[in-house]
Amino acid sequence: MKIALIAHDGKKAEMVSFMRDFLEELHRKDIELVATGTTGSHVVRAGLEVQRVLSGPMGGDAQIATMVAEGQVHAVFFFRDPLDKHPHEPDILMLMRMCDVHNIPLATNPATAKLVFERLLNS
Ligand code: PGA
Repeated sequence: MKIALIAHDGKKAEMVSFMRDFLEELHRKDIELVATGTTGSHVVRAGLEVQRVLSGPMGGDAQIATMVAEGQVHAVFFFRDPLDKHPHEPDILMLMRMCDVHNIPLATNPATAKLVFERLLNS
């Protein structure tokens, strides 16, 4: 199973702390992670192996949207910062649209991600 991780700058610390909470389960369940560039480097520092694509503003969200469309990703945790502006907003919308088109769980905050994750770990 592969989970995609994306966190805007104001949410990267939350993403790292979220992933730390699930460190053991991630290793035990053999879950693969893919992340946008900068999010990925933060998560790597938390001790997890992560496939990194381009940074979000350079096309990383679009790459993850493609993986969703191709059926390679089974859930997306996208911690968006609702208080900031993003130059790559069109890519962000496309990624969310791809999740809806292909019925892929999309969690945009840690509370939802926790529910989705717990369900995936027990499936
Ligand atoms: P980043 O991209 O992980 O490279 O910062 C995230 C985003 O802003 O979409």
